[in-house]
Amino acid sequence: MTVPLGDREPATSFASRLARRNGCINAWEFCEDMGLKYSLILKGDPTAIAEIARLGGVDAEKLACHTFRRPNLRIVEIGQEIITRTELFRSGIRFCPDCVSSDLAAWPHLGAAAPYQRPEWHLTTIRTCTEHGRALVSFSQLSPRTNRGDFSQAIGEALRELDTPSTHAVLRSPSQLERYLLARLSGRHNKQRDWLDHFPLYAAARLTEVVGCTKLYGLATRRGLLTDDQLQRAGSAGWDILKDGPAGFERFLEGPVKAFWSSRHDAGPKSLLGPMYEWLAENDTDPAYHLAREVISAFLLRTIPFGVKNRVFGTPVGRRRIWSIHTLAKETKQHPKRLRKLLITRGIIGRESAELSDHRVTFPADNSVSDFLEEIGELMSQKAARAYLKTSRSQMAVLIRADTLVPYATEEGSVAIRPLFLKRHLDDFLRRLTIDAISTAIPPSRSVNIPKAAKAARTSAAAVVDLLLRRRLIHVSRDPDLQGYFSILVDPAEVRDRLRDATFSLAESFSGPTG
Ligand SMILES: [Zn+2]
Repeated sequence: MTVPLGDREPATSFASRLARRNGCINAWEFCEDMGLKYSLILKGDPTAIAEIARLGGVDAEKLACHTFRRPNLRIVEIGQEIITRTELFRSGIRFCPDCVSSDLAAWPHLGAAAPYQRPEWHLTTIRTCTEHGRALVSFSQLSPRTNRGDFSQAIGEALRELDTPSTHAVLRSPSQLERYLLARLSGRHNKQRDWLDHFPLYAAARLTEVVGCTKLYGLATRRGLLTDDQLQRAGSAGWDILKDGPAGFERFLEGPVKAFWSSRHDAGPKSLLGPMYEWLAENDTDPAYHLAREVISAFLLRTIPFGVKNRVFGTPVGRRRIWSIHTLAKETKQHPKRLRKLLITRGIIGRESAELSDHRVTFPADNSVSDFLEEIGELMSQKAARAYLKTSRSQMAVLIRADTLVPYATEEGSVAIRPLFLKRHLDDFLRRLTIDAISTAIPPSRSVNIPKAAKAARTSAAAVVDLLLRRRLIHVSRDPDLQGYFSILVDPAEVRDRLRDATFSLAESFSGPTG
């Protein structure tokens, strides 16, 4: 006796129904009686499938097309699709009660041999019957005598135990993800149209659900703790994100990253993307997820101020691409407040960033930042600069007032900052000041230091310094016992003469041409 082949029915289900129809204990025994091995049909062996098709009087090619093949212990294949065994429902059977009822109604004379298995009932990420809009029912309490590989036997037991299975299945609209997966599983999908088409079926399914979980339930939620209903909604949310390909994925990644900015965590990809990242990192030997990892890596490297030692999916970041005030403060051991002001003064960040936290103000690690880093490495406070020049507080004040010494950064607009000096500017100042100085063991008798010369010439120290910088003095020497500013000795009489010359030439220029 035979049974009619169901739409997309796999050979395993067909053989199992034939067994039941012919009154055999199970599919293994039936096949054995027919000179066949059911274990070969379970493996998707084409010869065994052709044989059972011949026995049942159905088209072998059609039967093979919807039957799982098991090339190794890790994966199963169906049509052009690959599914890892971990993505299969393996603790019992799953079915749509309405599909089963319609089979029973369609072939009432077959009784328990009427219901046939749909391939999608094996895939854990398809959770709803797209035909009836009903959640699939899982039945895991099979008795030891029943093998889930024998569908007819297993469904018979489930129907007996569950009484009215439809009461166990909520009405639910199938998600776009479930429709998509089913289309691929059935060989009806036009491949290479969507970004997800580049993923093996199992990876497209799992990635979409994981992304949706992060979207709907946040970074703290573990997927394993969610209900079937919640996971189905996650699949739907993930589909809305990934249907737009990498652009959609990146738009989604902006969300968790934005939330991260308001936190105080250090920028590690794990704390940024939570379980989604961990899951992709755990599967980093599986090339199926390579495209997803690529999008995440590129996005993170472009937006997050990772240090060179940070790793993204095991690969060291290598060079810094982005700084934040926070990371730069850590790197330079500068106070972030001071750094922020300096960055604004140097035009590296805008004033509009004043509202943002140190973590959230980011800027590319380009040449202007490299120059800035070199500069802040040699910045000195006014006190340190004074010590470096070996001058006094009052002399320093005079030179600053006269703009002879110009601080690197100082009060500007709303950004208040104490004057800071660059070492290279101070070195240059000292070099120019002493360029004409002769080092003598015994200084000329009339020579005195700058402030004394200024007093004797009734001028300011800034004016004497100005003459030195413009190289207008001939008699310049250095006190061998001193260093820096106070070691420079000038002749007050010469200072007086040069200043008088300057006054004359100024007066002449004011009187204008006489002729
Ligand atoms: Zn159904």
